[in-house]
Amino acid sequence: MVDEQVDNSISASTGKERPAWKSVLAMVEARAVDIIVAWHIDRMTRSMLDLEELILLAEDAGVGVATASGDIDLTTDVGRMVARILAAVARAEVERKAARQRLANAARAAEGDVHFGGVRPFGYENDRITVIPREADAIRKAAGDVLAGKALAEVAREWSAAGLISSRAEIGWEKGKRKPKAGWSARGVKNVLVNPRYAGIRVYNGDEVGTGVWQKILELEEYLALVQLLGDPRRKKGENAGRSGRKPQSLLTGIARCQKCGETVRAASNRGELTYSCRMSHVHTNREYAEMRTHGDMIDRLSRPDALGLLVPSGIDEVDAAKAEAERQRAKLDQLAKLLAADLMTVEQFTTATTAAREKLKEAELPLKKVAGGDLLIGLDLGTSRVKGQWVELPLERQRNLVEALLEVALVPRGRKRRDPMPLAEQVVIEDRKVTAASAT
Ligand SMILES: [Zn+2]
Repeated sequence: MVDEQVDNSISASTGKERPAWKSVLAMVEARAVDIIVAWHIDRMTRSMLDLEELILLAEDAGVGVATASGDIDLTTDVGRMVARILAAVARAEVERKAARQRLANAARAAEGDVHFGGVRPFGYENDRITVIPREADAIRKAAGDVLAGKALAEVAREWSAAGLISSRAEIGWEKGKRKPKAGWSARGVKNVLVNPRYAGIRVYNGDEVGTGVWQKILELEEYLALVQLLGDPRRKKGENAGRSGRKPQSLLTGIARCQKCGETVRAASNRGELTYSCRMSHVHTNREYAEMRTHGDMIDRLSRPDALGLLVPSGIDEVDAAKAEAERQRAKLDQLAKLLAADLMTVEQFTTATTAAREKLKEAELPLKKVAGGDLLIGLDLGTSRVKGQWVELPLERQRNLVEALLEVALVPRGRKRRDPMPLAEQVVIEDRKVTAASAT
């Protein structure tokens, strides 16, 4: 160990000078270190510029970088790619400041904190952890009965007759009114039976995000069967019709697919790890990694010169002609740049010629944008390196729409062997979505 450098509380994103970071770079440059150890790559380099500087130096001086979340070998192209993706993702996090608080809340939810506020849930004491055996038994029995075909209204009658008091009815009681009628309705019973809390699942913003710290009353399989039978209340029209179409809070929920069953996955958690999982629990893919790979692939595709071509179908004459024309104009722009660089034309000639070529390129791309869903592409300088920064700043909903339009993300079950798990890289398979004329119109 040569030295320890700490830039405490100076966020790498503020643009403030970070003296310790500077002295690390100086030490690398002076070849005074063999390896840099950091907690996480984004603790070292919050900006892509920092990272590129480090990559150049590390390559030059043969310095390794180790982080608590795994070594990153900046001397290989794969290592550099991973580092760049990590930095891009870190950057996105920094820049989406509004999203931060939401993330913090989600993280707390994922840890299974007890959520206070409101009435105690039926089945639990006021601490929301301790099970009330009599109520829990009623819930378990009802679950079995309903799955066997008993009507919800019948269960409601039984619960009322047994003197079980619904949470809602209990508020009135606490407020000093006379002891309420049990007040169970079919809807009330259903709300209990499809509430993920009873299977120990913590819900945040409509996504199931973790395992609760409280005792569960229903088994997961039982709960899932009930949801399937009774329908997800969040998706049903009716009392919540105004808020229908809740927005997923994660990049790949409802988009990536389980390779085994072909169903889309959703944000979940497995043994404390945030994952994407399918309903049947075939896959539990690390959420951060799957998203990181997707971000990286999207940036890669959208930065390609022919990015627009990826988004539009082939086989339509008009579109193919526009593609070819756009390709011609791009080639011309390249050619002009070479001529300028070789001093074979003046800056003035270059400016005039490129302005004309750019106009023609724009014109050629217009029908392409229409077919590709132009709205999705606003604010993205396709085919340039600027896409990287623009992509990470896009609202989640737009990122999701673009991922859906461009990629097929498949998640692969990691196998049963605990000791010898499948490498992360093999658990996420990303392919170009084949755009056909039929699916685009
Ligand atoms: Zn599956």
